[in-house]
Amino acid sequence: MYNLAILGGGPAGYTAAGQAAKAGQSVVLFEQNVLGGTCLNVGCIPTKTLLYSAKQYYNARNAAKYGISAENVAFDFAKMQQRKQKVVRKLVAGIKAQLQGCTVVNAAAGVTAYTEEKITLAAAGETYEAEQLLICTGSVNFVPPIPGIRDNEYVWDSTDALNAKELPQSIVIVGGGVIGMEFATLYHELGVEVTVVEAMPRILPNLDEDCVNLLLEKYRKQGIRIFTSTKVKSINGNQVTVELAEGGGSMLAAERILVSVGRRANLQGLEALKGLELERGAVKVNEFMQTNLKNVYAAGDVTGKIMLAHVASRQAEVAVGRMLKQIPVQRIAYNAIPSVVYTHPELASVGLTEKQAAEFYTEMEGAEAVERKGGLQAFFEVKKLPMTFSGRFVAENEGETGLCKMIIDKRNQTVLGVHMVGNPCSEFVAAASFAVRMGYTVPEFRQVVFPHPTVSEILRETVAE
Ligand code: NAD
Repeated sequence: MYNLAILGGGPAGYTAAGQAAKAGQSVVLFEQNVLGGTCLNVGCIPTKTLLYSAKQYYNARNAAKYGISAENVAFDFAKMQQRKQKVVRKLVAGIKAQLQGCTVVNAAAGVTAYTEEKITLAAAGETYEAEQLLICTGSVNFVPPIPGIRDNEYVWDSTDALNAKELPQSIVIVGGGVIGMEFATLYHELGVEVTVVEAMPRILPNLDEDCVNLLLEKYRKQGIRIFTSTKVKSINGNQVTVELAEGGGSMLAAERILVSVGRRANLQGLEALKGLELERGAVKVNEFMQTNLKNVYAAGDVTGKIMLAHVASRQAEVAVGRMLKQIPVQRIAYNAIPSVVYTHPELASVGLTEKQAAEFYTEMEGAEAVERKGGLQAFFEVKKLPMTFSGRFVAENEGETGLCKMIIDKRNQTVLGVHMVGNPCSEFVAAASFAVRMGYTVPEFRQVVFPHPTVSEILRETVAE
């Protein structure tokens, strides 16, 4: 009998397996596809690899503004795809090496029986037993109930798009969320005609509005067509019928239609865990990643909390920490999870947005009290600074704009949220996460020395006296 069985070899599964094995636990990990999960095989890594090629192409075509002439700039999509595969293979090999102390079963597995003392699983005709189970089955693309969307050769999900041998000439992207806008970036920079259809009043609806608006303005100027508050009524072949915000309908046609309207927890293989409690279609867990069933834990997208690889791996650490009864007790600081959207320019953020801060204080204080005290500005303030206040940003981003925005508690000056647009903010949002995680105040933040000249200085400049 193994100490721990893990269902799924994505960021949650492989992190937990490595950590538990290092602590001397016997671990069996089941993965039906390739180790690394969605993130490594058909998500974060392949998209970032292709996006990097697209960025190089864009930079080469726009090199004149840096005093460089480059003629006959071209790209080879097949070579870009080959490089993507090479990057993925290399990283998968790294994970395999990390799991040497574990039994890895490369097959679809499912729970067949559960008692508090023993969990039984089956995979490829074999039976496995373990004292504890960690569910890391991830998520699957959500297919919305739009007539004509299923069994339609023109409709792609993000995996189809990543695996395509050729670029389409034109694409309609349904869903202007993270996946939608990253693919819009990739396709547009490679010369594909892009149209985005977003149901909400704005793209990337959960991110800071000012930052997103800067991106939106740039993308619209560059010729990406973006329809917001627009619902897709039906799809017929390669034609998308939408209901426009201003009323009336319109027909959009393209060579391909990419549907990226979110993902859902993957509950495959869990059917025999009869009493397993779910919440909004995902496995319900407490702060230690324990499900309602004794000795059954879950981590990653399957918990439906925040579907990000770095959240998944941290959740896995917390789960294993709990199984091993580690001291100090591990918890996840959900208030300080950084997120990045790899558009060009990038968006990066951590903590409360202005909208969330407004909702938080209104709920905490009550709308009446907020009004009596002079409005929300009595509770929090917003500091903003254009990225062009950073010398390094100006040197390296000819003609570009960007923004850094901080949300600060008025009473104790704690940094509650940081939101940025401008390259390369993904590389220093971790400093902002640190500040939010540790509850730094503005005076404390001002004492941190940032290297000069770096774009990261914008963080300090935004809160300068
Ligand atoms: P998402 O939730 O980020 O965005 C989906 C978008 O589709 C939303 O803006 C939503 O309003 C819109 N939408 C929903 N139904 C629609 C409809 N019928 N018509 C038009 N628009 C509709 O989901 P996603 O972009 O599919 O990404 C899935 C998950 O993967 C997310 O949790 C995301 O965070 C994660 N992801 C993260 C990264 C990253 O961190 N850089 C990259 C890719 C994916």
